[in-house]
Amino acid sequence: MRLPGSSIGIPACDESVMIEKRTQYHLQIPDPVLNCMEVLSTSGCEAWLVGGSVRDLCMGRTPTDYDLTTNAKPEAMLALFSARKTLDAGIKHGTVTVIVDGRPVEITTYRTEGAYSDGRRPDYVEFTPSLEKDLVRRDFTINTLVLNEKGILRDYTGGLEDIRKNLIRCVGDASDRFREDALRVIRALRFASVLGFTIEPETSAALSAQAPLLRHIAAERIWTEFTGLLCGGFVRPILEDYADIFAIIIPELLAMRNFDQRNPYHKYDVWAHTIRVVEGVPPEKVIRLAALLHDAGKPKTFTLDDEGIGHFYGHDAEGARMASEILLRMKCDTRTRTSVEELIRIHCVPISPDEKTVKRRLNQYGAETIHRLIDLKIADAKAQSELSADRIAPLLETREAVRDCVARADCFSIRSLAIDGADLIQIGMKEGPEIGKLLEDLLQKVICGEVKNDRTALLGYVISEKEVGSDTIV
Ligand code: ATP
Ligand code: MG
Repeated sequence: MRLPGSSIGIPACDESVMIEKRTQYHLQIPDPVLNCMEVLSTSGCEAWLVGGSVRDLCMGRTPTDYDLTTNAKPEAMLALFSARKTLDAGIKHGTVTVIVDGRPVEITTYRTEGAYSDGRRPDYVEFTPSLEKDLVRRDFTINTLVLNEKGILRDYTGGLEDIRKNLIRCVGDASDRFREDALRVIRALRFASVLGFTIEPETSAALSAQAPLLRHIAAERIWTEFTGLLCGGFVRPILEDYADIFAIIIPELLAMRNFDQRNPYHKYDVWAHTIRVVEGVPPEKVIRLAALLHDAGKPKTFTLDDEGIGHFYGHDAEGARMASEILLRMKCDTRTRTSVEELIRIHCVPISPDEKTVKRRLNQYGAETIHRLIDLKIADAKAQSELSADRIAPLLETREAVRDCVARADCFSIRSLAIDGADLIQIGMKEGPEIGKLLEDLLQKVICGEVKNDRTALLGYVISEKEVGSDTIV
């Protein structure tokens, strides 16, 4: 059904046309969210699910979060939900969070925004009784759909058509929208990377033109969108087509582009190789970041030998150092940063499926890092030349060997030894660093199969060594 916006009692913005459809999508709205919508509508207010959740429902995807929009003012909401726990931290911007069954539901009053004189945030926000006015301030047409608790879906900006065509398109004038808030540049790329959509030509040209404004956007805001983008299932064309924009966010990437490796193991330049590695690793933040930056140290460490072959000695250590610097600047959390840095530092460490090596590596790095390392190495080898193809099978075997070793709960760390420091003290060793050294020694014996990981066997071994006068335990 196609209706002019004004015929349903909602002030129309310009000459826009509104599409209204009856759907069954409301049956998929979780109860706590539905409950809030019903509280609002039975009290005579409008309540709509809006943004990403409606887009995802229309696309047959499961929404990640549910935002509601209403014509009720924040004070009215607080009164309506007085029997429930509410959070009012966002009340200045019209947002009240209602906790239903332990789950937060964000409800925001319809609002319009003033001019964006700083390219980051509106000079003011104002409440409005008009749903449509609230929707047209939003970024992309696919994010402006609304759904009520009865399954009525409304589209004021052509979002449904753009979902059908797999298009990211700005609401209104694209250049203005990116000038208002340059974070939308990265958001557009994030939606394209996650949803596999194309960016509509006018929107694409405008985002490239306005991308330098990203320099004024807070690193924390970019970080969330950037990592979401990197973890998209369709990241490769985005990295390929919008490399200039990535170089604005991370200038260190610039040197990787068109950097000829001059090495028979590499058929791609550093950036083209990197893009393939990013695409080839699982869509998880740490490993995608490690893939993006694993060869960042190559341009700086490049040398040519007498035969004209390119080498990159120490690019792993240099890459880890650069990654740490980049991630600190991007306000990445410490845990992610240290994991990424470690993966890059060890990405050239040899690893093979034999049991001893697997256990040693597990002891050195832990199971989670080893699995990530293997995934990174496989993607890395696949993105080189045919000469690297024979590296892949042993890596797959190593992955199995690691899984088996962990599943059997084999001993590969001091923590999993059948004795500990207290046992050694009990048989007469003095407290001190020697204990740690001996445990490490015992672990190596267990890993090599020389001693069984069994309390009696280990203590027996220690005592027998003591008797023959080994200085490791005196
Ligand atoms: P996701 O499914 O990843 O959460 P989303 O579309 O819900 O995607 P959010 O960041 O949760 O994205 O934002 C919710 C909604 O708020 C968006 O759908 C959009 O309508 C609006 N929005 C968010 N950020 C902006 C922005 N920078 N400019 C304009 N509108 C925005
Ligand atoms: Mg959302």
